[in-house]
Amino acid sequence: MAALLLLCACSPAREEARAPAEAASATQHAQLGRELDRIERAARARPAPLERELRALAGGIAPGSTAELEVLALRAHLAGLSRDRSLNDQLVQQLRDWPAGAGRPSALVAAATATAEYLRAHGDLREARKTLLAVDATQLAAAGPVFRWRYHDQMAAICSDSGELDSALNNGHAAQRLGEQMGQPWRVALSLMELAFTSNRADTPARARQLIGQALTEAQKDPDPVTLNRVYTMRGIVYSGDSDPGIALQAYTDALEQAQRADSDSVRALGLANLADHHLRQGHWARALELAEQALPLARSSRNSSAESVARANIGLAKIALGRVAEGRDDVRAGNTLDEQQGALSYASAGWEELAGYLERAGDLAGAVAAYREHRRVSERVLRDETRKLLLEAQERQDAEQRARDIELLNRDNALKAEQVHQRNLALMLWAALGGCVLVSLGLLWQVFRRVRRTNEALAHSNASLKRQSETDPLTGLANRRHFQAAIKSLSSGEGLAASVFLIDIDHFKRINDSYGHAAGDTVLIDIASRLREAVREDDLIVRWGGEEFLIVARSHEPQFGPQLAQRLLDLIGGRPVVQDGRSIPVTASIGFVSLPVPPHGLRLSWERAIDLVDTVMYLAKAHGRNKAYGVERIEAADALAAAQLTARLEAAWAEGQVGLLALTGPQSFRSSGAGELMPKEFGA
Ligand code: GH3
Ligand code: MG
Ligand code: MG
Repeated sequence: MAALLLLCACSPAREEARAPAEAASATQHAQLGRELDRIERAARARPAPLERELRALAGGIAPGSTAELEVLALRAHLAGLSRDRSLNDQLVQQLRDWPAGAGRPSALVAAATATAEYLRAHGDLREARKTLLAVDATQLAAAGPVFRWRYHDQMAAICSDSGELDSALNNGHAAQRLGEQMGQPWRVALSLMELAFTSNRADTPARARQLIGQALTEAQKDPDPVTLNRVYTMRGIVYSGDSDPGIALQAYTDALEQAQRADSDSVRALGLANLADHHLRQGHWARALELAEQALPLARSSRNSSAESVARANIGLAKIALGRVAEGRDDVRAGNTLDEQQGALSYASAGWEELAGYLERAGDLAGAVAAYREHRRVSERVLRDETRKLLLEAQERQDAEQRARDIELLNRDNALKAEQVHQRNLALMLWAALGGCVLVSLGLLWQVFRRVRRTNEALAHSNASLKRQSETDPLTGLANRRHFQAAIKSLSSGEGLAASVFLIDIDHFKRINDSYGHAAGDTVLIDIASRLREAVREDDLIVRWGGEEFLIVARSHEPQFGPQLAQRLLDLIGGRPVVQDGRSIPVTASIGFVSLPVPPHGLRLSWERAIDLVDTVMYLAKAHGRNKAYGVERIEAADALAAAQLTARLEAAWAEGQVGLLALTGPQSFRSSGAGELMPKEFGA
C-alpha cells in the first residue's frame, strides 16, 4: 500500500529524528494511502466517478512526490477501466515522462499496466499482452510492490483469457506472493481467484476449488463488496459442474448481493449474466433468457465488454434451447468470433464447445459438427500447441535434470568402484609379491571386474527406464503424445500414413466424475486403457491422446480390419461396467476410424490430417447418439485438400454420398442405467 511503502523507505534513524512537520506529512500520506486503497478496491464498480474523486483529492499534493506518482498511476488505471481513451493516453504520457530517479521504474510499469488495462477493457487482449511483455525486466524488478502487483495481476488475467495458461499460473503466483508481502488480504484474494479460474480452465477442478476456498478466506479477512463479488462469482464458475447445483446458485446469489452493495451497473450486469448461465445449466431456459436480457443493456450502458459477451452468448444458447435455433446459433457464433478476434481464445474455445452441445441437442447436427470443429481448432491453439508444448518442455527439462543427476550418481559410484579395483589391484600385487596365491588374486580380480560391469549395465538400464517414463502416461501406463510423435514416423512415408487410425472418446465422462467422484473417473480410465490393450497387437500404438481420449494406430489396413477392431472396442468398453469399490459404473465410448489408403482414389493422408478426419467422424458418432463407431469407408477425394474440404462439411457430404460412412453400435445392455442416461439427449421440459 502507498502509505506503507513510503514509511518503509525511511531509515529507523531518520524516523527517530523526525521533526513534527514531517510527522504531520507522514500522517497525511497515510491518510492518502487509505483513500487510494479504498478507491482501488472499488475501481471495477465505478471507475469514472472514482477517477474524478481522485483528481479532486490530488489537488494539494506536491509535484514530483511519491504521492503524486501513486495518484497518477491509479487515475490512469481507472481511466483504462472506464475505457476513457483520451484521459488514459494523457495520464499514461505523464507517467512515461516521469523524471529519472527512484520513482521512474514504477512510473514506467504503471504506464504499461494502465495502457494494458484500457486495451483489455476494450477487448483487445493481444495488444494488451504485448504492451505488458514490452516492460523491461529490470524496470519491473525495481518498481514498487503495488505497481508490480497490478502488473502481475493484470498479466495473469490476460494470459488466462488468451489461453496462455502456464504464464497465467506464473504471474498469478507472483501476484499472490506480492499481496502476501504487502499484508493485503484483498490483493491475495484476487490473485487466488485468478489462479482458480486458470486451474479450472486447465482441467484441474479439484485444485480450482481449493484455491477459491482460500480466496474466500482471504477476502473475508478484510471484506469489501467488489472483492467479495468477484470471489463469489468465481466460486459459482468453478462449482458450476458440480452434481449439487445449490453450491453454484448460492455463490451467484451471494455475488449478486455484493453487486447491489457495490451499487454498480457494471458489476450487476456480470452478476445477472452469470446467473443466467447457471439457469441454462439447470435447463431453466426461459428464466435464463430473461436474466441475460436484463444483463445486456446494463453491460452496454456501463461499457462492461466481458459482461456483454457473456450475456449475448447466454441469450443465444437460451434461444436455441427454446427452439429458436437459427437465431440463437447466429448470436452465439457472432459472440465466439468476436472473442476470437479479440484474442480471448479461452472464452472462444469454451463458447464453441457449448454451442456444439446445444446444437446437438436441438438436432442441428451439421451446425453441431461445424461448431465442434471450431472448438477443436481453437482449443488446439490454447491447450495443445502452446500450453501443452510449454508444459512438455518444462517437464522435459525436469526429466533431463533428473536424468543428469542420476547419471552423475551412477558415474560417481562407478568411479568409486574403479578406485576400489585399483586399490585391490595394489593389494593383490602386494599379496602376490608376498608370495601369496596367484589363484586367489585372480579370483578377487574377477569379482571386482563383475561389479564394474553390473554398474555399467545399471547405468544403461536406468537411462532406458528414464526415457520410458518420460514417454508414458503415469495414470494408464499407455504411451503419451511425446512417444506418439516419435513412433508415428515409422508408420509414415512421404506419401502419408498406411495404417488404421481409431480415436476413442469416453461418453459423458464429466458425468462419471460428477456422479462417482474423480477417483472413480481415474479407475475408469485405467480399466478402459487395459481393455484397449487387450484388443490390439503388441506392435500397435495405443496413446492416451487427451483426458478421456485414446488413439490407436494399427499397422493393418485391410478392408475388414477397421470395422472388426472398432466393434471389438465398442464391445470391450460397453459390454461390462467398470467396478470400483463395489459400485458398477456403466461406460460407453464413441469411436471414429479410418484405414488408409481410403478407396476409391487410394487417398493417403499425413497423420495430422488423418486424426483431424477421425476426430470429426468420432464427433458425428457422438452427435448420433454415442456408444457408436463410425468409420470412413469411402471418400471422393484424391488429395488432402479435397479431403479436408469434405471433412469440414462431413454430415452434408455423407448425406450427398461423397463420403461413405459405416456405422456400428455398441452393446445396449447398460444403456437403461448407463452414463448416457445421465444427460437427456433432447432439450426436456
Ligand atoms: P462427451 O460424451 O461429449 O465426450 O462428454 P464428456 O463429458 O466425456 O466430454 P468432455 O470433454 O466435456 O469432458 C471430459 C472430462 O474429462 C473433463 C475432465 O475434467 C475429465 N478428465 C480429464 N482428464 C481426467 C483424468 O485424468 N481423470 C479424471 N477423473 N477426469 C479427467
Ligand atoms: Mg473428449
Ligand atoms: Mg468424452
